[in-house]
Amino acid sequence: MIGGGLAGLASAVALAEAGLEVRLLEKRPHLGGRATSYTLPDGSEVDNCQHVTLGCCTNLADFYRRAGAEGKIRFYDRLYFADRRGRRSTIESSWLPPPLHMAPSFVSFGALTLADKSGIARALLVVAWSGGEPRGIESISMLDWLHRMKQTPGAIERFWRVVLVSALDEELARTGARYGIDVFWKAFLGSRAGYRVGIPSVPLGELYEGCREAVERRGGPVRLRCGVREIRLREGRFECAVLDDGSEVSADACIAAVTHNALPGLLPKEMGEEGGPLEGLRHLRNSPITGVHLWFDRTVMKEPFLSLLDHTTQWVFNKSLLYGGGAAGGAKTEEAKLGGGKSGTTGQYLQLVISASYDLVSRSRQEIIDLCRRELADVLPATREAQLIKATVIKEISATFSPEPGVDRWRPGQEIGVKNFYLAGDWTRTGWPATMEGAVRSGYLAAEAVLSGFGRPRKFLQPDLPFEGLSKFWARRRIARG
Ligand SMILES: Cc1cc2nc3c(=O)[nH]c(=O)nc-3n(C[C@H](O)[C@H](O)[C@H](O)COP(=O)(O)OP(=O)(O)OC[C@H]3O[C@@H](n4cnc5c(N)ncnc54)[C@H](O)[C@@H]3O)c2cc1C
Repeated sequence: MIGGGLAGLASAVALAEAGLEVRLLEKRPHLGGRATSYTLPDGSEVDNCQHVTLGCCTNLADFYRRAGAEGKIRFYDRLYFADRRGRRSTIESSWLPPPLHMAPSFVSFGALTLADKSGIARALLVVAWSGGEPRGIESISMLDWLHRMKQTPGAIERFWRVVLVSALDEELARTGARYGIDVFWKAFLGSRAGYRVGIPSVPLGELYEGCREAVERRGGPVRLRCGVREIRLREGRFECAVLDDGSEVSADACIAAVTHNALPGLLPKEMGEEGGPLEGLRHLRNSPITGVHLWFDRTVMKEPFLSLLDHTTQWVFNKSLLYGGGAAGGAKTEEAKLGGGKSGTTGQYLQLVISASYDLVSRSRQEIIDLCRRELADVLPATREAQLIKATVIKEISATFSPEPGVDRWRPGQEIGVKNFYLAGDWTRTGWPATMEGAVRSGYLAAEAVLSGFGRPRKFLQPDLPFEGLSKFWARRRIARG
């Protein structure tokens, strides 16, 4: 196994469970790849960026279970929003059957006008009625589809964009309509639990402790700081991995679970060239995410997390509260919990996320912090008086591949015509966008391919959440239609 991100870890744990001896080679000093945490020079541990899962991410949930990390993810049923003036709205499920279960909180959502809401309701009904697959969406952008659905500018900016830019890390004009519609169908319309937000209550790196154990129990080592510089093939099959120090590691099969940017450089050049099996990777574009970590000297936020409307900042996570355990603790409890907390300070630690942060890439760290502080002052007035003790900005320039219209044709599957050699990674053809769920799916699919190759087929891929209510009926009708 080359690469210890979620795709590599999911494959490794599944194959170890199936009784195989797995050797995992990871070039960095820690596991988790793009979903990881590390220690700052002052000793505080930070995630490279806040990661959240949703109830509809069934394979990621299965992976956390296998890795013994299930209890470290806490699910939240209420989503919190704040508009420019700091006015709060919430979205949550009701007793109504899907796809209507969120209608009552949507109706009272203060940040949208009646015209915005009626347009959104119409478009969502089109999605639900078609079983998640309205006609003619394959090659158009989400923005094109929203215009086709006659959405108001307010609905686009304060509803569709708010949900989708953070879910898919791309602007609506560059997002394939199929991906955007899928988010609403799977997370918000298909079932009651699909939208629930799962957030780790520990730094990301702690989620993977069980993975190393699972692999090593079967006798296979997990080797960190162990970069592969070449994947050598001979006569159409995998021969060995050549490490940075020149040594060779051979195996009966190999899964390359590195990023799509790194893979072509490890394989014979012609594989990534025109006509080669990895030709499509040249067409995948990257999209950035910026994470801003702020430590205040006092409590400034009560909610566990907040989604901002009308701002550059999209999400604010109350890390002190999320790590502390109580979901709705008041200021006093919160302050008490913070003494000696993970940040090593008294006060409050917030993490802000800006997806598709193209405009921030060239901005200085200080400019980004100043921008975030100005925006926080709108929605969290206590930050105006609070002192900022410490701040860190982490720009992930190549955070995810961009889910452009038609992008699936550039994504290779797990097998590319080389015997005993398989691919995993969020960028492979899983049908999912670049997410932890997509990465785990790719890992499970690669593990299934390895076992099939050994003549020991086994399934790891988990079914989607079952559709409920009217959505179940409409999903069945779509399947019957073909
Ligand atoms: C800032 C940010 C925020 C995100 N937020 C979310 C979120 O909230 N929810 C969500 O679902 N997804 C989120 N994602 C996406 C998610 O992190 C990724 O989709 C997922 O982690 C990808 O996993 P992977 O295993 O496919 O790739 P990676 O995590 O990139 O793993 C590849 C691994 O291969 C290793 N490697 C590369 N080259 C070599 C080599 N030559 N030799 C050995 N090892 C090598 C790398 O070091 C790395 O560990 C976010 C991503 C980023 C960057």
